[in-house]
Amino acid sequence: MSESSLGAHHTDEPWQRLVAAALRAAYAWSVRGVHRNAAMREIARMTGVVMEVYGPGRGPVTPAVLVERLRAPLGGLLVDARQEVAELADVVLLDEEGNLTEKAYDLVCEHVVPLKEAAGAQRWLPTWVTMHSDQIRHRVFTAMIATTKQDEYVASRKFLVQHPAGGERDLVEKRDRTDGVRLAGGSYQDIPEEQTYRGPDGRGWWWRCPDCKWPMAVSSAGKVRCRYRPHSAVYDLLPGTRPKLRRRDDGPGAPLPVAQAAEGAKCVDAGVWRFVVVPGVSELRIAAAAERTKAEVQLWPLLDRYDLLVETGGEKFAVDVKECLSLNSLIDRLRTRPPSARILLPKPFRWQLEPLTDALPGLAVTTETKFLSQVRAAVRKAQ
Ligand SMILES: [Zn+2]
Repeated sequence: MSESSLGAHHTDEPWQRLVAAALRAAYAWSVRGVHRNAAMREIARMTGVVMEVYGPGRGPVTPAVLVERLRAPLGGLLVDARQEVAELADVVLLDEEGNLTEKAYDLVCEHVVPLKEAAGAQRWLPTWVTMHSDQIRHRVFTAMIATTKQDEYVASRKFLVQHPAGGERDLVEKRDRTDGVRLAGGSYQDIPEEQTYRGPDGRGWWWRCPDCKWPMAVSSAGKVRCRYRPHSAVYDLLPGTRPKLRRRDDGPGAPLPVAQAAEGAKCVDAGVWRFVVVPGVSELRIAAAAERTKAEVQLWPLLDRYDLLVETGGEKFAVDVKECLSLNSLIDRLRTRPPSARILLPKPFRWQLEPLTDALPGLAVTTETKFLSQVRAAVRKAQ
């Protein structure tokens, strides 16, 4: 996903501010056990944002009422924008236990806009609830990747995508063995508790998602699953001092993820995972498939002007991979900032082709399957 040209954002719509405030308040509520005062202040601040959007005498007027609304479908809060946010209308942010729901992590986070009045030092709030996805990517590429040389940039970004978690010593060894990786210190942090199982002896364990390799979420009910739902394998936890997983559905006979010790293990933060690692997995998969046809592939050319440049002797194809669960926010983004290459929808997002072309008739867009057959045909022609 190319984000090198960070254009100014257009003025945010009131409903976007509501969604952002609701997610921040829900996040704060979910961590109030750890950040008691800061969390309650944040919920009060977000109540202020919501009241300001609604205007006097309408909508939730106290933090308690706002939290109550976060346990109900978002449509109730977004009454004036039902059309624009049909995909969010049924989404609930907080479950009965006061934890964030799966949709908060994978869909609603694509709608986050920064709230100016709530900026400032809120270091306990994660980037994915306070920043626009473009800002998170931009921050990663300027702060974490410590180089402006193209080959080092590609090696570093590829490393983050391929190694989003692992034992600290192992990550360091892999980094040192891989040519050109230049990562700034502090790129990895401890594995969060919600992605860890604590055994009866107090030792922590985590499991890699088979698709993205980041630690899967471990629910208190013993369900283990990646927070990004298109990575769809679901497991039951078999507790103990050496915990194991059992696949919940029949699924393809892939090997079961093995428990890793949480002690000494690190992972990239949730914002980097969601907006760099998750799309990066698709970008690398498509690049590898194009390479197998004997085409020449460059990843993120010109320091990320777009995602892939594929050359087949005679022809050149430039594409920008867009992996967005939210069709609305994808359309909105492409409208504000026209892409510098043809849009490519990865396999699970093929369904977006028609609605996207309907909404933006001039847009050049293709799918993973169509694109790869086009590359294959061009390679054959060149031979
Ligand atoms: Zn995953």
